[in-house]
Amino acid sequence: MRILLVEDDEALGGALRDHVRAEGHAVDWMRRLDDATEARAATPYDLILLDLGLPDGRGLDFLRALRREGKATPVMILTAMDQLSMRIDGLNAGADDYLVKPFDLDELIARLGAVARRYAGNPNPLLQLGPLELDLAHRHVARDGKPLDLTGREWAVLDRLAQHPGLLVSRSQLEDALFAFGAEVESNAVEVYVSRLRKKLGAGLIHTARGLGYRLAAEQ
Ligand code: CA
Repeated sequence: MRILLVEDDEALGGALRDHVRAEGHAVDWMRRLDDATEARAATPYDLILLDLGLPDGRGLDFLRALRREGKATPVMILTAMDQLSMRIDGLNAGADDYLVKPFDLDELIARLGAVARRYAGNPNPLLQLGPLELDLAHRHVARDGKPLDLTGREWAVLDRLAQHPGLLVSRSQLEDALFAFGAEVESNAVEVYVSRLRKKLGAGLIHTARGLGYRLAAEQ
């Protein structure tokens, strides 16, 4: 997933970014609301992690503006223990979930996955596609019962394809899944990772629609 992190606390923001990246997601970290507003206008994010108190304004106003524009991007708010009324305001303003600081980073990852799957309309993390078994929650994939070992970026591509099995996913959507804002994007990166994935998953699963994108499906 491509995630926008809005958090002004350097230590917490850094820990969040590193941990979420290590799980194979691309993270753009903004410390101010004006930067976050610019970033979300330029990039289609899969999920936004939102602190409520930023140096140039309130996270809730950012969230309300997003929803006023009709954007359904999932938003998870980060609140302090004593901010019960803020959590309620956040949910009423259209947040999908919240985490109370200090939180466990593994819990955050699990909740990120759950929110993203609900948004994708596929709350079940288990998928069976022909010989392929996928567990999106635990990032586990097996072919004919044999577990496969994927790198973070290979997983990012497979995860994006698996969010909409059978449907076309564009090359630029896969690019977004692969790279954080500002990171170097090799022009053939998508082809490279798709080809590595094909080698690992075996034939007949990732289909190319030339010039359009890719599709994950069991049929030929
Ligand atoms: Ca803050």
